[in-house]
Amino acid sequence: MIGAGVAGLAAARRLRLAGAEVTVLERASAPGGRVRTLLVEGCRVELGAEFLADFYSRTFELVRELGLAGELRRIPRSAATLRADHLYPLWPNLAAALTPLVGPRHKVALSYLVGALARHRSRLDTHAFHKAYALDDVSVTEYARAHLSEEVLEYVLQPPLSGIFYWTPERTSRALLFLALRAGLSRPAGMRLYTLREGLGQLATALATGHDLRLGAEVETVTPGPGEGYTIHGRAGNTPFTLAADAVVIATTASAVPRLLPWLDDRQRAFFSAVTYSMTTLLAVGVHGHLPRVTYGVFFPRRETPFLAAATLPTVKDPGCAPADRDVICLRLSGRAAAALRECADDTLACLMLAELRRLAPDFDPVNRRVFQRLYRCAEALPEFKVGHFHRLQDFASGAIEPPALAFAGDYLGGPFIEGAIVSGERAAERLLGQLRSG
Ligand SMILES: Cc1cc2nc3c(=O)[nH]c(=O)nc-3n(C[C@H](O)[C@H](O)[C@H](O)COP(=O)(O)OP(=O)(O)OC[C@H]3O[C@@H](n4cnc5c(N)ncnc54)[C@H](O)[C@@H]3O)c2cc1C
Repeated sequence: MIGAGVAGLAAARRLRLAGAEVTVLERASAPGGRVRTLLVEGCRVELGAEFLADFYSRTFELVRELGLAGELRRIPRSAATLRADHLYPLWPNLAAALTPLVGPRHKVALSYLVGALARHRSRLDTHAFHKAYALDDVSVTEYARAHLSEEVLEYVLQPPLSGIFYWTPERTSRALLFLALRAGLSRPAGMRLYTLREGLGQLATALATGHDLRLGAEVETVTPGPGEGYTIHGRAGNTPFTLAADAVVIATTASAVPRLLPWLDDRQRAFFSAVTYSMTTLLAVGVHGHLPRVTYGVFFPRRETPFLAAATLPTVKDPGCAPADRDVICLRLSGRAAAALRECADDTLACLMLAELRRLAPDFDPVNRRVFQRLYRCAEALPEFKVGHFHRLQDFASGAIEPPALAFAGDYLGGPFIEGAIVSGERAAERLLGQLRSG
């Protein structure tokens, strides 16, 4: 197993339960990949994923299997969008039809979207994204301009795409929009979000328990042979290592694959090279006392600021994540701003982010009561589900990409969230088990 993100760990677990002997190689010093909870001066900060949504059926089963059901915490007062100094609660549910965030004419446009969702329902399976390939024809922007309105695009669709995935609607396929809305609207009362008592890192830690997990082990290449297996070459610190395996799961981001497997043919290489990732930067600021606890997350439309994508208040999500006399605010840069400012020094970037927050929402300004401030950059945040990606996933599902005794796992295959990563990991394990049994 290469990569101890949730996809790799879920694959390793499935293989081990089936009796396989599994070694997990992870280049980082901790498991979890983009699911990682840090303790900063007594406050829990999520570096990557922050919530589980109620449509993550396989993740919730796994949570129960791992004995973590009692650790789940429901997140109250989920999200609002900022427009002209006003916060508009907006979440995928039927009450969204009443939002004053956009005018009545634009709400009629939204009802068109609900009709389109109903028509394409059979293609929208959050456990099989490739089935939506027939909807992978235009971007969200092109779709909204043709069938909805500019207002719906800029204030209803763009803010969550940017605030959750750090994407732009120009670089998102309408197939992804339909899948996300189908998942969000599956309950009339609206999507519910959850976390775990110790943060989502608790899921990664539980998933990692019991494996032969080698941290700090960076794989450099995987070459075919001897026989029908593979040889793995890597480095643990300065020490090179070589391992032989009957079968391999590669559960890294897609961008790492061409380097790990230099012998791939052009079609296989093109599949992985086509996947691109958004970027973001997190600024977590701890303060004395309490910030206004009005909502867990705030999305910032790009018309209000091209700079910040979202802010979250972790203590609304879970009051126990900070000492009683402290609060935390987390700011996230938009994908475009994170890419444009990647060379900017940490201190300068933090100042810019705080100045923008002060301009947009002065009540949340943490500067005068700051206890700590930490900046974390994420160069590969979420795989972009651009126009074309669903067609490529269809190709992948047909078996055209994976060589024998080798399987791939990751959110770029299963969907851009924990559930997609876990489902892809378990599928990769099943594929290898099938081959090992029949071989
Ligand atoms: C800022 C942010 C917020 C998010 N919010 C949410 C959310 O609220 N809810 C949600 O469901 N999802 C969220 N996500 C998405 C979710 O975190 C990911 O979809 C999921 O964690 C991806 O898991 P993965 O196993 O596919 O990849 P990764 O977690 O990236 O795992 C890949 C692993 O492979 C390792 N690796 C790479 N190359 C090598 C090598 N050569 N040798 C050895 N190891 C290697 C990496 O170190 C890493 O540990 C968020 C992501 C980000 C970045």
